[in-house]
Amino acid sequence: VRFPLMGPIKASLFQIQNRFLDAVLDVSFRVRPGTTMALVGESGSGKSTLGRAILGLVPVANGTVRFEGEEPLKSGKPSPGYLRHVAMMFQDPISSLSPRRSVKSLITEPFVVHGMSDRDLHAEARRLLALVGLPKDFADRYPHQLSGGQARRVGVARAVALSPKLIVADEPTAGLDVSVQGEILNLMTRLQRELGLTYLVITHNLAVVRHISDEMAIMYMGRFVEYGPTQEIFARAAHPYTDGLIAAQPQPDPDKRRAEVALKGEVPSLARRPQGCEFHTRCPYAQGLCRRERPEVHDIGGHHTHRCHFPLTGG
Ligand code: SF4
Ligand code: MG
Repeated sequence: VRFPLMGPIKASLFQIQNRFLDAVLDVSFRVRPGTTMALVGESGSGKSTLGRAILGLVPVANGTVRFEGEEPLKSGKPSPGYLRHVAMMFQDPISSLSPRRSVKSLITEPFVVHGMSDRDLHAEARRLLALVGLPKDFADRYPHQLSGGQARRVGVARAVALSPKLIVADEPTAGLDVSVQGEILNLMTRLQRELGLTYLVITHNLAVVRHISDEMAIMYMGRFVEYGPTQEIFARAAHPYTDGLIAAQPQPDPDKRRAEVALKGEVPSLARRPQGCEFHTRCPYAQGLCRRERPEVHDIGGHHTHRCHFPLTGG
């Protein structure tokens, strides 16, 4: 069973349809240009694997990645054109930044392979620093002289250096104070507007999802258990897992009446995938049917789908 593509696809920058490694079994989605899609889940949900597979960093065993109508990973290796249009913002910028290299050299690295002159590299460094809101003298700093938020900005500068169309951001605000998180998300939003970027944000942080994404997919053991517009899902989560994740977050809206239940237990190992609905070992609503039959994808309208026999909303 494939996860169906939702609704009519208009200008789709990016879509994926596949059966992946064991980690990501069966997902299909598309991201429209200039929007942000969030992949949400606990560790082991397959969200990082999926993000990496999209960039060609992990092989796609059986499936297709389409980008602007092409299949850039078809040959098993990303096509050079594709690599120009996609970029990754890594999870831990400090450790992903080489400690012996200046900020200037780090953020202009993507240009060096293009044989750019020193003068042009310098100009690029200044342009990129300004773009991410860092003073120009930061060009001469080293990673250990940067705060967490400044290191993130350097990571963003690297990611946007070659003017990509799609950026995969893995936990873009992990390890930052809440106020700095907000600054980085605002920076990403501003750059999205100014540069027309499309984001795929991988995170377990629902506050980030709510702040930044247009659509979200909640992953559990390699499947999308719920997928749809972010606002709609926060307002009317259908899947008990989504509901549990939302309940585990600080709730800003006390009037909301929902059957929220805190999540218990851990994601089972992929080697011991439960029969039927994979969430039944943790689901407070599980019934016999759930243990026997894996739920199909149910479309409840408005591009909102879920995989649950007994959804909390939308029948
Ligand atoms: Fe829970 Fe059953 Fe729905 Fe799975 S199918 S999430 S076990 S109610
Ligand atoms: Mg991860």
